[in-house]
Amino acid sequence: MSQTTHQFQAEISQLLDLIINTFYSNKEIFLRELISNSSDALDKIRYSSLTDPSVLDSQKDLFIRLTPIKDQKCLIIRDSGVGMTKADLVNNLGTIAKSGTKAFMEALSAGADVSMIGQFGVGFYSAYLVAEKVEVITKHNDDEQYIWESSAGGTFTITQDTTNPPLGRGTEMRLYLKEDQLEYLEEKRIKEVVKKHSEFISYPIQLLVEKEVEKEVEDESAEQKTEDDKPKIEEVEDEDAKKDKKTKKVKETVKEEEELNKTKPIWTRNPQDISNEDYGAFYKSLTNDWEDHLSVKHFSVEGQLEFKALLYVPKRAPFDLFETKKKRNNIKLYVRRVFIMDDCEDLIPEYLNFIKGIVDSEDLPLNISRETLQQNKILKVIRKNIVKKCLEAFSEIAEDKENFAKFYEAFGKNIKLGIHEDAQNRAKLAEFLRFHSTKSGEEQTSLKDYITRMPEVQKNIYYLTGESLSAVKDSPFLEVLKNKGFEVLLMVDPIDEYAVTQLKEFEGRKMICVSKEGLELEETEEEKTKREQEAKDYEDLCKNVKEALGDKVEKVVVSNRIQDSPMVLVTSTFGWSANFERIMKAQALRDASMSAYMASKKTLEINPQNSIIQELKRKVQEDASDKTVRDLTFLLFETALLTSGFTLDDPTSFAKRINRMVSLGLSIDDTEAVPAAATESKDDVPALEGEGAGAMEEID
Ligand code: ADP
Ligand code: MG
Repeated sequence: MSQTTHQFQAEISQLLDLIINTFYSNKEIFLRELISNSSDALDKIRYSSLTDPSVLDSQKDLFIRLTPIKDQKCLIIRDSGVGMTKADLVNNLGTIAKSGTKAFMEALSAGADVSMIGQFGVGFYSAYLVAEKVEVITKHNDDEQYIWESSAGGTFTITQDTTNPPLGRGTEMRLYLKEDQLEYLEEKRIKEVVKKHSEFISYPIQLLVEKEVEKEVEDESAEQKTEDDKPKIEEVEDEDAKKDKKTKKVKETVKEEEELNKTKPIWTRNPQDISNEDYGAFYKSLTNDWEDHLSVKHFSVEGQLEFKALLYVPKRAPFDLFETKKKRNNIKLYVRRVFIMDDCEDLIPEYLNFIKGIVDSEDLPLNISRETLQQNKILKVIRKNIVKKCLEAFSEIAEDKENFAKFYEAFGKNIKLGIHEDAQNRAKLAEFLRFHSTKSGEEQTSLKDYITRMPEVQKNIYYLTGESLSAVKDSPFLEVLKNKGFEVLLMVDPIDEYAVTQLKEFEGRKMICVSKEGLELEETEEEKTKREQEAKDYEDLCKNVKEALGDKVEKVVVSNRIQDSPMVLVTSTFGWSANFERIMKAQALRDASMSAYMASKKTLEINPQNSIIQELKRKVQEDASDKTVRDLTFLLFETALLTSGFTLDDPTSFAKRINRMVSLGLSIDDTEAVPAAATESKDDVPALEGEGAGAMEEID
């Protein structure tokens, strides 16, 4: 009999130490975790039996059985699920750590409760909350029967099992309980824990209970009497004779299986008969969540197509909501009460992957495969209904502002993703958007509320995207809009940029980015004439500035959106915004040629109200080839890049220019202040006033 010894992976070992040595009072959840694993294993074998019924030959019944063995202080949890091969044992129970292992330990040290363990995908190890030693005996159809054994302490062993009775198929967990955890051998306690955490498991959970039964036995003495009283004639009338026989009752203890979870699947019951506690209990058993749900939708569709569904919105986002490797969604698909699969892609769009629940179809075939599901028309209808009900649930949540704020904090990204992905429901989803704005203060505003605050002349919805609230709240792009009393939405989540480009409008009002060119602000006749006049007056300056900056800008125009700052840089309507350029630059694998194209089109807008610009204009009129104008133009341009949300391609040159300005201001001899001056022509730094004309020619 060969035994192999294995090391627990380091993080798992650490987790086990933590589970064993830290004080937790809420240990009972171990049973929920192990029963949930059994239920998963049963789901797996049932699913494969739909296409190949012979997989069940090794064990026909599907069940979970709990057996307390008091004299050995051992609690046995057995299932007739799929079982594990030797390789499964090695991988799943000890050597391959999941991302949740570390995440769970971090959560614990941040004050999380141990009952959250299941959500992190390491529920099995909760056995060590109550057991000092665990044996896992398991038989998979493709392998022999094995025993996995460990008392933690860094190692586990695997042995081929030649001593225990054959399981047929499935897994038996033997927990040798710690001295102070013997309560889990008590019938009453086990029943209580199962009722609390595992009531809605869809396989029978049997408990081996001891029962006192009254048994009728023939009363030997009475029988004697009868025989004496009656003559022996009735060999033929046997039945009658039995009736006449006297019996007595005796008490006897017998062991029998009692089913602990006899409730009908909750989704098949009438919603009126289901309390919110019932919904909560089902939600917890379905999701391993330790908290109640935020909202629930229980509905059925009848007619040409029939199904029932139960959908939950959780209170929080899971730790791995946007992790790509994990399963796509959390809707379990049943067909006529039989579990089929738990991550059917086509049941719900990806942006709703945080919705948990079940769908039970009357119409789909039982042996449906993933491939055929994809083109299935029934599924398309179900999906449409699910989305509709989810949106209804969000509307209901939105009725309570505080609740909705929590919801939006957790799942706002999903809503935005939905706006990007789901053209059909875009308008409805847009109602759930919330943004900070120049008028919203600490709170966030909905687009609907924004519209109610719009001054009469304002036609469009204005927004500005950027890296953070502090980066955008005083942006030069807001100057004129603020002055006109136009509210501007401040979008600082990278995904906003994607969502808003798809959204385009809300309730007939265009969404306008205030940092893009062609901003047509609603203006009075007077404002218009003034702007047109300024455009004429500043035509020469614009030309001059464009000449100085060359290819760095597409064109130079007089601005209608800035009030104080001298210049801003705007991007083309269909190109990237400054913020998007920043996001794309941060993405390592982007296509460089694309970004060069999208990012190149910048328009410089100058502000005729600004005294620097006015002075520049005067200087250009005096002498169009004045070098100072060109030098300062560069500095102003680079500063405008920064205040407009772009990054500098060459911050060193910018810094040198500034340093020289400072030197000039302090009347320091140039060569002293900037020792690197000798190399400046190589650096492509335009010289400032007073420097040699040679350097000037190096611009660009
Ligand atoms: P999770 O259930 O989230 O995958 P667990 O730590 O609870 O994480 O279980 C780890 C793995 O061990 C499971 O994914 C499964 O492959 C295997 N496993 C645990 N219990 C059983 C069981 N009763 N039958 C078959 N496999 C099991
Ligand atoms: Mg589990």
